[in-house]
Amino acid sequence: MKPQVRSARNGVLIAGPVGLGAPGSSLIETERRHGACNYEPLPVVMTHGEGVWLWDEHGRRYLDMLSAYSAVSHGHAHPRIVQALIAQAQRLAVTSRAVHTDKLPLFLKRLTELTGLDRALPVNTGVEAVETALKAARKWGYRVKGIPEGKAEVIACENNFHGRSITIVGFSSDPQYGDGFGPFAPGFKLIPFGDAAALAAAITPHTAAFLVEPIQGEGGIVVPAAGYLAECARICREHRVLLLADEIQTGMGRTGKFLACEHEGVVPDGVALGKALGGGMLPVSAFVATNEVMQVFHPGDHGSTFGGNPLAATVALEALAVLYDEGLIERSAELGAYLLAQLQTIKSPLIRDIRGRGLFVGLEVDARRTDARAIVDRLLARGVLSKDTHGTVVRFAPSLTITREEIDWAVEQVRAVFTELGKGMRRAA
Ligand SMILES: *Cc1c(COP(=O)(O)O)cnc(C)c1O
Repeated sequence: MKPQVRSARNGVLIAGPVGLGAPGSSLIETERRHGACNYEPLPVVMTHGEGVWLWDEHGRRYLDMLSAYSAVSHGHAHPRIVQALIAQAQRLAVTSRAVHTDKLPLFLKRLTELTGLDRALPVNTGVEAVETALKAARKWGYRVKGIPEGKAEVIACENNFHGRSITIVGFSSDPQYGDGFGPFAPGFKLIPFGDAAALAAAITPHTAAFLVEPIQGEGGIVVPAAGYLAECARICREHRVLLLADEIQTGMGRTGKFLACEHEGVVPDGVALGKALGGGMLPVSAFVATNEVMQVFHPGDHGSTFGGNPLAATVALEALAVLYDEGLIERSAELGAYLLAQLQTIKSPLIRDIRGRGLFVGLEVDARRTDARAIVDRLLARGVLSKDTHGTVVRFAPSLTITREEIDWAVEQVRAVFTELGKGMRRAA
């Protein structure tokens, strides 16, 4: 079913009272009481989703400009992906890798075709794909490059986000991510993001790999200067260091190419994919790499019970097919440029910067005047779901199926929020 734009334009229908999530919501209370408090969700209880729209327990409708941090790039309940899921669930869902299935080979082959790489290793979540990349890189360092045992180094960037395992939070520059979780794995070095000279300076004979997000997502949609990734690729080649791209958020068409690396003509030695690979239905991730890298894995070296199960492989294959059949990658490029241009027409002293690539846009507020959460809360009250990241950036990453009319409506809500806040400021002054 096509999402309806008609009532989207009717702000009255969507805009609920502020203080959504009425403190009375017993579901929120139940979650607070029985769950670990490792998240601080917006006070709204979603019960249903279709395309770019979400509905809460009171039947209020929201334009989903977050799409589960890019996991729902195909939109909620994409009919083809739902059908593929149901049909495969009735046939065969999980076998473990103790046997072959008729689905996994097709999924692996498709991943290599789309990335220009040789072999794929399927896992489930993003963090597992990055862990797989790190294991591959270290072992490649010892067995192929000849780094002395126990000395392999991996260079990563400040402000990175690669997941939440102990290894990975151990090299996060966000003090909260690692706080209380040490001791951490040694062998990681951080350099500033966007600075290719810093990469060249940090490389030693013990460096196995450079791990990088082509655009930093959780770090605040940080887009490096043109040429950065290509220069990093050149430096890595020169020093025989693997270039590992974490495209868990930027991949799958999010930035207007299948991989964000393609904007600079870069084919990395290994790439981590996740999030939208699961079609907004299942956790599906993979590490895809060259023969030279992947040949380090022998039976028993690495694995995952659910990795590459036929249900996941089928859903991911369908998600990849839909991406191309519906032209979603081109849509992301075109409508992303449109969204960016429209947002940039909003003039407010509260806005510091608006940046992005494809349907991956960050609006940075001036931290001295407001915070991103205040914008997110007001947008939510107007029926637009977005999310703040790192305090000062509002992230807009709708599903790639969004229409121009829906973007227009969302931008009007953003404009209205800044007008409201601007008036408040003038009164306060
Ligand atoms: C979300 C994300 C991850 C972690 O993925 P999970 O599925 O949450 O483990 C890793 N890297 C990047 C760039 C991400 O955006």
